[in-house]
Amino acid sequence: MTARILNGNAICDRIYAELAIEIASLAKRGIRPGLAAVLTGDNPASKIYVKNKIAACEKLGIASFSITPPVSIPTEELLAVIDDLNRRDDVDGILVQLPLPPQVDAKKILEAVDPAKDVDGFHPLNVGRLVSGQAQLVACTPAGVMEILKRSGIPIEGANAVVLGRSDIVGKPMALLLIHANATVTVCHSKTRALAETVRRADVVVAAIGRPGMVTPEFVRPGATVIDVGINRITDPAQAENFFADFPHRLSQFREKGVAIVGDVHPSVARVAGAVTPVPGGVGPLTIAMLMSNTVKAARLRRGSRS
Ligand code: NAP
Repeated sequence: MTARILNGNAICDRIYAELAIEIASLAKRGIRPGLAAVLTGDNPASKIYVKNKIAACEKLGIASFSITPPVSIPTEELLAVIDDLNRRDDVDGILVQLPLPPQVDAKKILEAVDPAKDVDGFHPLNVGRLVSGQAQLVACTPAGVMEILKRSGIPIEGANAVVLGRSDIVGKPMALLLIHANATVTVCHSKTRALAETVRRADVVVAAIGRPGMVTPEFVRPGATVIDVGINRITDPAQAENFFADFPHRLSQFREKGVAIVGDVHPSVARVAGAVTPVPGGVGPLTIAMLMSNTVKAARLRRGSRS
């Protein structure tokens, strides 16, 4: 069996097309959604993430504001930056790019974001709304995984789902979204016993552990859907040979660059699974699409419109 590849970029294009219609209808009411990105410090990965998010805003006609406080900023001053963004009427969404510098109290900052502008869905109020089935702004990556499943026609209701990983930003909200979609959900983590055996019971597996290629065919029931959230950099040539044994093009790219981005799922899983998401080009693009979607939603909700 060779798995169906669930193409995140194609799903993303459909979401962007839908958002463009919504943005045009808001424009007729004189509303232009706006997203503020707060990027503190010069972490190269964070810079790329923010650049991609701003580029997505530009593509859709969402206003974007880039705020770049110095890396040495104390918590109190960053709180003042957030307070200013909370008050601005042209800002519907506030995104605080993580990680924050070590002297900053990240929890305090995330809790200071107005929940109505919390387009990352990290504020405790939005997490609580998700728990109680009244979600408004949901963490982007798990929301993106749900879009992939639903738009690919993968049955969720009554399915056994295993979420690998229990982080606040991916694993926990992912499990909640699957529960609300009527899946029977098991959450696994580093202390889970008989991990492969537990995962093998799943019809749907969502891997979010940050371990390159840890999910191998022995974890996967034949025909299961496997969603790979992992984004890992590999630089070890032996690891690359192992990963890209069936992908000579990617192996030669690795040899040129000395680095590759891979998921938590080993490519050989595609021989067993019914459907898999690739890395790159699977969940990653959906995370940005859901950030755009949350920004448009926040713009609507802030102006008292639910639809
Ligand atoms: P995280 O905060 O480091 O959490 C990792 C989770 O995996 C933890 O719950 C941990 O268990 C579990 N885990 C680690 N090693 C394990 C093992 N050997 N066996 C079983 N469970 C194990 O990571 P995260 O922020 O959720 O991110 C996970 C991955 O997704 C990373 O590769 C990250 O880069 C990627 N990511 C991608 C996107 C995207 O847009 N595609 C967005 C966010 C994150 P414990 O709780 O017991 O420690």
